[in-house]
Amino acid sequence: MPVRATKRGEERTPLAGDYDVLICGASFAGLAVARELAGSDARVLVVDRYEIGERQTSACAAPTEWLENLGLAESIRQTFQDLVVHTPHTTVRMELPWTFSTFDYRELCRLLWAQCGDAEFETAKVERRQPPVISRQSRNSVTVVTDRGDIAAPLVVDALGWRRILAIDAGFQPPDAPLSRGLEVHPWGASDELEIWIDRDYVPAGYGWSFPARDEVRVGVGSFDPRHRVKEPTVRLAGDLERQAVRYQGNWIPHQLRPATESDVFFAGDSAGHCLPLTAEGIRTALYFGIACGRELRRVVEGRATRDTALRRYSAFSADHRWQFKWMLRTQKTVPRVPPRLLAAALRFPLSSDAFVRWSFTHYLNIAHPSFALASTPASTSALRSVA
Ligand SMILES: Cc1cc2nc3c(=O)[nH]c(=O)nc-3n(C[C@H](O)[C@H](O)[C@H](O)COP(=O)(O)OP(=O)(O)OC[C@H]3O[C@@H](n4cnc5c(N)ncnc54)[C@H](O)[C@@H]3O)c2cc1C
Repeated sequence: MPVRATKRGEERTPLAGDYDVLICGASFAGLAVARELAGSDARVLVVDRYEIGERQTSACAAPTEWLENLGLAESIRQTFQDLVVHTPHTTVRMELPWTFSTFDYRELCRLLWAQCGDAEFETAKVERRQPPVISRQSRNSVTVVTDRGDIAAPLVVDALGWRRILAIDAGFQPPDAPLSRGLEVHPWGASDELEIWIDRDYVPAGYGWSFPARDEVRVGVGSFDPRHRVKEPTVRLAGDLERQAVRYQGNWIPHQLRPATESDVFFAGDSAGHCLPLTAEGIRTALYFGIACGRELRRVVEGRATRDTALRRYSAFSADHRWQFKWMLRTQKTVPRVPPRLLAAALRFPLSSDAFVRWSFTHYLNIAHPSFALASTPASTSALRSVA
């Protein structure tokens, strides 16, 4: 049984203090923002409703190079060079030009947090932001309402996931929002294969997966259509693989980019729709945009930019990726319409040819390339240059 470390009852004393940066959400995006502020003089507070790493939020597979470049290799559980794709009419093995690794969520969060310098952490449930007009004790402050009291800071980040809790209008509710849904089980066991199923028998639009992580296998189903329930097919896929349907984990997954800033708040990760459509890969993009956001905030706390400049630059940086997200969304809408026999033929040839796999996966990685984690200056995209 995991030990509940989250503060309860009398421990939940009111939060108080004067912070330069308030980061709401301590998962991939939030911790990536905090990491970029390590070593600055800024007083940084990170809040989450759970203890850091307490609740796994995904199947935890990411490009290995991202994990290595961020110094997170210790959390890796298994590494895969091949992706095995099953359809009703064929199975193909694709050798990828780079590797994917599954990792341990708790361990990864611990390693990331260790790189966050003097940032402070508190468990608190974030409820909303105060409307800008009411919160203006000083012109610069944003006030966030939590179950442990109000916290004000000039720089506030929403890394709280798809709900985008700090948005002024909270009108983004499933199933009427551009969200996919995913559910997985985590039975103990082992396998050498990273596998996906594109099979309408499991899900009309979406895919199933089996991601081994040394001593457990993460088996799940994701549906691009938020109305399609995924529990029954997840249990069925697990059964077909002779795995137990135990230890569930699931959530809504955004598949559309949303503005990365709103009024005076920064959004990173799922709260900004930074999860990639089609693949529902949202970890490396949460890290990528979290780093970009953190670098802009660092310029502000070091007096090299104003908050307005940071808002403008980060917003432009995120929007600069719009066409890649659109292209992925278009493919997400097209694939389920391809007749299964045609899809099988395409996968056999030429889609599964080495050259095509290398070309497409290289472009795919470039959307949020691991080298970004190494650069110490803000991204040199055209968007950043043009608004600087
Ligand atoms: C079943 C499933 C499997 C997936 N598998 C993969 C995968 O293998 N690889 C991949 O790249 N992507 C995967 N994804 C997508 C990926 O999980 C997300 O895109 C990614 O977690 C986004 O990171 P984030 O930091 O933006 O948000 P999250 O990881 O969702 O973190 C949000 C944080 O905010 C906290 N929070 C939420 N609400 C509140 C509140 N009111 N108050 C305080 N704290 C709050 C949460 O506790 C959490 O710590 C999967 C998604 C699902 C649902």
